[in-house]
Amino acid sequence: MTADRAAELADLAARIADCTACPRLVASRQAAAAAGTGPYWARPVPGVGDPAARVHVLGLATAPHGGNRTGQAFTGNPTADTLVAALHRAGLANRPTSEHAGDGLRLGGAWMASAVRCPPPDHRPTRTERATCAGWLTAELAALPDVAVVQCLGRLAWEAACDWAGERPRPRFAHGAEHVVTAGPRPGLRLLASYHPSPQNTRSRRLTPAMLDAVLARAVTASSPHP
Ligand code: SF4
Repeated sequence: MTADRAAELADLAARIADCTACPRLVASRQAAAAAGTGPYWARPVPGVGDPAARVHVLGLATAPHGGNRTGQAFTGNPTADTLVAALHRAGLANRPTSEHAGDGLRLGGAWMASAVRCPPPDHRPTRTERATCAGWLTAELAALPDVAVVQCLGRLAWEAACDWAGERPRPRFAHGAEHVVTAGPRPGLRLLASYHPSPQNTRSRRLTPAMLDAVLARAVTASSPHP
């Protein structure tokens, strides 16, 4: 079953990587590549992780010089450094660093992706772009039936997860917020919220390593099939 699921996810990843639905974001990912040095992926970035994941770690959008460069979500930038080190401390990653695709990083029990798979200018996708990319999150979560917790990094990820779950009105975002989905595609699934591990939040200590460790520990506990 896991092999079938892995094949389904690989097929989905290939379809995501070919997406050109948002003209502004197609231009943005190409502009970031032109402004950078060395080879860039410059295509939409699919999620990555364990096909049997029970925790889905959801960020806002692909970083212009992180995932847009490497082709792998949460790789090769300061946000990835913070997040993957915390995933490692939580027992969800086999190593504390995420530098490039093929660097040996493997997630166990977790999947990570962004709600918007291309890098928006100023990290601000439009409402239409968010709605357009939501279809990929829906498809990905459908292919990850064991996911019991979506750990949302930042307000826009929280809103994307609430919209996927059909929660209206959306429950309020706050660091540490938790919401159990009551209907929609997966009743009983938990949404957990954290501030985004961006350099802005970590340098200001709005989000500390201890805060991130605490939310990920809750995600691991809440997703356990044997609480
Ligand atoms: S943001 Fe999403 S929907 Fe828009 S082009 Fe990129 S992958 Fe496609």
